[in-house]
Amino acid sequence: MTKLQATRIAALKGNFRGQVILPDDDLYESARKVWNATIDKHPALIARCATTSDVVGAVNFAKDNGLVLAVRGGGHNIAGSALCDDGIVIDLSQMKAAQVDAGSLRGTIEGGATLADFDAATQAHGLAVPLGINSTTGVAGLTLGGGFGWLSRKYGMTIDNLESAEVVTAAGEVVRASATEHPDLFWALRGGSGNFGVVTRFEFRLHPVGPNVLSGLIVYPLSEAKAVLQQYREFMAKAPDELSVWTVLRQAPPLPFLSETVHGKEIIALALLYTGDPKQGEPLIEPLRKFGTPLGEHVGVQPYTAWQQAFNPLLTPGARNYWKSHNFSVLDDGLFEAVIEYIKKLPSPQCEIFFGAIGGATMRPAPDSAAYAHRDARFVMNVHGRWTDPADDERCIGWARDYFKASAPFASGGVYVNFLTADEGDRVKAAYGQNYDRLAQIKRKYDPTNLFSTNQNIQPA
Ligand code: FAD
Repeated sequence: MTKLQATRIAALKGNFRGQVILPDDDLYESARKVWNATIDKHPALIARCATTSDVVGAVNFAKDNGLVLAVRGGGHNIAGSALCDDGIVIDLSQMKAAQVDAGSLRGTIEGGATLADFDAATQAHGLAVPLGINSTTGVAGLTLGGGFGWLSRKYGMTIDNLESAEVVTAAGEVVRASATEHPDLFWALRGGSGNFGVVTRFEFRLHPVGPNVLSGLIVYPLSEAKAVLQQYREFMAKAPDELSVWTVLRQAPPLPFLSETVHGKEIIALALLYTGDPKQGEPLIEPLRKFGTPLGEHVGVQPYTAWQQAFNPLLTPGARNYWKSHNFSVLDDGLFEAVIEYIKKLPSPQCEIFFGAIGGATMRPAPDSAAYAHRDARFVMNVHGRWTDPADDERCIGWARDYFKASAPFASGGVYVNFLTADEGDRVKAAYGQNYDRLAQIKRKYDPTNLFSTNQNIQPA
């Protein structure tokens, strides 16, 4: 570190309410870890912000010192874009404050909060916004890429519920983006994935949900997977928006409702949530139990927040992960054959492939109504390679890539930006779809020098 840098770091620290973490600090090793353990980056400085003013200071510090800049929300992005080597990380993990106004059905949340933080605040009032299925994920990264989960068929993508955002721009200015203030920026934030500034606060429209919801799992053996998937396809074509059912193919975890003889065997699970009155949902889900001969089920009325955390034990931070993803507007029999073939050769017990059903309200806005373009997607598939030993990297990554290729002929061509890995730069245009050129124009206006570049990057036009 030069003397000049040391002086400037001292100046940054002087005005900083949060923590400035340097490589020789005790906190540094834990602060540079993200969800995906294959990411191993060494920033020069981690600015763990406490306030919007801290964020402004850190953005200006990056510019003044010509540093690469990364922004960390929940640190869950598979590509590790929350971190950078040698540059500065603006770490928002301490900025989690939530406020809910139940009367106006509005809620705000700061840029470093997790889904669990926001779910807890909104559910205290029996309200929620559609978020993802793993409660340790960051609200910020999820929202900026689009965001979908159990409530999306009913209430749309997360961005469809965004009312406004407080943003620190590349110029170091704090602006409010909404339908009427900086509407171009507001359009770009809703799917443009961290390219347009640091969002310090999101304001969402909330909906009555639960607090208890009908939800759970129905598990079938892999030998019945093709028939289950075919019936699932027909079922989802007619399902009401209130009902979300995803399919997950993997080895059975040691779940207490499954016989021990099933643990570790290949299965297909139907994971479901009904957003309305559980009594009305019961008859609707009955056919799901008759797709074959279930190995077991655990379906009932439970707190929405519990279901939001149900998959956390399978998705803990610290494992090695590699993803591949396609969008689908229809599910073809050929796809079912491919997925079953690859589940029979899982390279590790933690690997899985899921089909997340969106559709419903996610398909109603026009594809150019916000940066998120994939309004034709009914299903988002994720091939989740997951393992612990670095010696298995090649085998597990190879499996994910091979199945990705085998399933490509049945896909719609688009891809969800939040599921892209670091080596998929060639898919960035597919991720932003028809909205890429407009995004590049807005990028030129708000970030002409591409200060926010450690993301699925949009080059300024
Ligand atoms: P980070 O790694 O912190 O950030 C991701 C990107 O957003 C980075 O480029 C970062 O620079 C940028 N960013 C973060 N915070 C800000 C901010 N405040 N302002 C500006 N830019 C910012 N997605 C779904 O839609 N639905 C799901 O159900 C779902 N399930 C998931 C489950 C798991 C276990 C994981 C790991 C991911 C899941 N995802 C899901 C994907 C998730 O949406 C992305 O990984 C998302 O990027 C995570 O956001 P984050 O804030 O945790 O990530």
